[in-house]
Amino acid sequence: MNYMATIEQHESEVRSYVRGFPTVFDTARGSYMYNTDGEAYLDFFAGASVMNYGHNNSELKQALLDYIGSDRITHSMDMASVMRAEFLQAFRDIILAPRGLDYRVQFPGPTGTNAVESALKLARKATGRTDIVAFTNAFHGMTLGALSVTGNQFKRDGAGVPLNDTHTLPFDGYIGGVDTLSYFETLLNDGASGIGHPAAVIVETIQAEGGVNVAGGEWLKRLQAICQRHDILFIVDDIQTGNGRTGYFFSFEEFGLNPDIVAVSKSLSGYGFPLALTLIKPEYDLWTPGEHNGTFRGFNPALATAKRTLELFWSDDRFAREVRAKGEHVREALEAMLTRHPQARGCPRGRGLMQAVEFANRDLADKITEKAFQRQLIIETAGADDETLKLLPPLTTDYADLDKGLSIIEESLVAAMDELGIRGPSAAVN
Ligand SMILES: *Cc1c(COP(=O)(O)O)cnc(C)c1O
Repeated sequence: MNYMATIEQHESEVRSYVRGFPTVFDTARGSYMYNTDGEAYLDFFAGASVMNYGHNNSELKQALLDYIGSDRITHSMDMASVMRAEFLQAFRDIILAPRGLDYRVQFPGPTGTNAVESALKLARKATGRTDIVAFTNAFHGMTLGALSVTGNQFKRDGAGVPLNDTHTLPFDGYIGGVDTLSYFETLLNDGASGIGHPAAVIVETIQAEGGVNVAGGEWLKRLQAICQRHDILFIVDDIQTGNGRTGYFFSFEEFGLNPDIVAVSKSLSGYGFPLALTLIKPEYDLWTPGEHNGTFRGFNPALATAKRTLELFWSDDRFAREVRAKGEHVREALEAMLTRHPQARGCPRGRGLMQAVEFANRDLADKITEKAFQRQLIIETAGADDETLKLLPPLTTDYADLDKGLSIIEESLVAAMDELGIRGPSAAVN
């Protein structure tokens, strides 16, 4: 059977990653994916941060096998199950309580966009207001509510209907040195600004899809304070930045934030299963039973691997500290690479193990991913013009594989600049 031909013949034109990474994968372990010829690809994409703990981690796999091997409940709508209770208790004991956070947990449906959708609905219900404030370059998902707070015009156009009841404000750093939050608060204080009284603000602490735009800690704290002063709900979309990606379980805990609603998904199951949570401050848990329903809310096998993930990686702060150290290592290596190749005109940025380089030449990042794929490294771009190279290795990747990926990136950068005719003075090595 020609697998790729079959996919090309039968799957919708909407398929996307398969076009940039044209090989057929079959197995995976740790930081590697293997194609049907058994060739190993080093994974610096990790399913957009779904595979933070690596592929097919043996202890998580065992938790899954134990669960399904003894005919435990797979699907029970949201009827009570032992696994549901055990996950909720572990999430409270291991994640929320030690961080001084108090949230009710909603299972909104299995994907990130479900968590965003329910967060927006609940904020509107809780405040009796309509409008949501979102930011330039934001990405929150593909269903209509999530799209309405997403910046990318190509994605928005896919809606086919007007995307209403939102305001877009400039993200931190969007207009050079302009203080975008003073602007926001001036609008809120002015009865003639046209912005009215929004129900909520939704923000990513790092705009991952939008180009790895990192919001400053002070900016985020001020944003939360503005929301509090104006009685606006503060929603953090931690779907890609959460689950340890920035070196903390929640990307906002480093800054002591306490959002009213948090959306979590992507790596939550630890094993690549769809699983999402909407975390709600108790006073805003105003849902009536079944008001936001769905067939797949809290898929029990995913809760089994999620609970084991919390126990394995988050019972103490060792893993988080390791991620931060690896993040610094990657950042230093990228800076050294850019010093060796000044003609690349790259600007590094990121937090933890979400590191990236934006290139002045808008074609360079895309070309690097193509050259990297030829060298069996999976890496993606971000940003409206795919101008940013985004490194998302599994957080469990060891230093040897991090360095291997980094040197493939450098080789790919050189090859890409060669092909695009980007020349200039190259600094001497060391
Ligand atoms: C991936 C992502 C979403 C959407 O999640 P899906 O599971 O694709 O629906 C929302 N917000 C952020 C920040 C994301 O990275």
